[in-house]
Amino acid sequence: MKIAFYSTKPYDKLWFEPLNREKYGFTIDFLESPCKEASISLAKGYDAICIFVNDHVTAPMVEELHRMGVRAILLRSTGYNHVDLEAARGKIEVLRVPSYSPEAVAEYAMAMLLTVDRFTHKAYTRTREFNMNINGLMGRDLFRKTAGIVGTGKIGQAMIHICKGFSMDVIAYDPYPNEGLSVKYVSKEELFKDSDVISLHCPLTEETQHLINDESIRLMKKDIYLINTSRGGLIDTPCLIEGLIQGTFAGVGLDVYEEEEGVFYEDRSNDIMMDEALARLTSFPNVLISSHMGFFTREATKAIAEVTLENAYALEQGKELKNSVLS
Ligand code: NAD
Repeated sequence: MKIAFYSTKPYDKLWFEPLNREKYGFTIDFLESPCKEASISLAKGYDAICIFVNDHVTAPMVEELHRMGVRAILLRSTGYNHVDLEAARGKIEVLRVPSYSPEAVAEYAMAMLLTVDRFTHKAYTRTREFNMNINGLMGRDLFRKTAGIVGTGKIGQAMIHICKGFSMDVIAYDPYPNEGLSVKYVSKEELFKDSDVISLHCPLTEETQHLINDESIRLMKKDIYLINTSRGGLIDTPCLIEGLIQGTFAGVGLDVYEEEEGVFYEDRSNDIMMDEALARLTSFPNVLISSHMGFFTREATKAIAEVTLENAYALEQGKELKNSVLS
């Protein structure tokens, strides 16, 4: 099995290289290039490509891969909204990592919430400059506040658990409620109205695109916290900016951003920020942005490598493809 590994960062090799050497012996070529139309020809001669969340595989790219004899797209992610699945069906397998460490993402969501609430990021920079003034750093207790969890899958459940650990009252919205879960399900509108904290944990679909928009923001209390560790497209960015200007939000934590492709994971510190919405978001003192790193723990990245290579092995051996997103 020959695998073209796109968008390689140094940390990808940490687990993939030794695990492959010890257990599988595939030929893996680690390419720094992202997977896009201009670089799809690099996949010629490979059995599979391995991509990350900001590698978008469009229908023409699927056609090209199929034409070159590539049999599978190995996703190093849970989400699969970045591949044209209809185009892939019947032509090329798409295998994902259904779960690696939901706790990693949920813990990160709570870290973002605690940071925007208690300003630990600002305290850190102040004290390093020997500024011991605490003016402007007053937060709010989370104790007994209402956390609204949108999407009660693996990460949402881990987040519910964490919020309960903080003695928060937890409500949830999911069109497919999990009856075995000890949480109060409410309608989407009730969740928007009653939450002090909203944390998004649903996938990006046609239905969830711009779930956070003018209408939903209008329903929210003043001074709430909004945390998005799911997908940028869940939030209509201009509406969020307007909500921030109107003072709806006490704090916003964004680990994902609708236009993150080509920007997140790159060091662009010498470039002018051309994305005006992103520039505006970074200008708010109560907005914390990070570069899609909720998954980024040793445990999660190790599990991603294990499942991705196991997916490749199942393909090679003609075994059941239990992590196919096409079935
Ligand atoms: P999951 O499939 O276990 O759970 C998703 C839940 O969302 C399901 O319960 C589903 O019923 C629910 N859902 C579907 N449509 C919905 C809707 N319209 N409204 C509300 N809920 C809806 O997925 P997961 O493992 O919990 O992951 C959740 C999301 O987290 C992924 O889709 C991915 O986008 C994101 N993610 C982010 C990172 C990161 O590094 N920031 C890492 C992994 C996953």
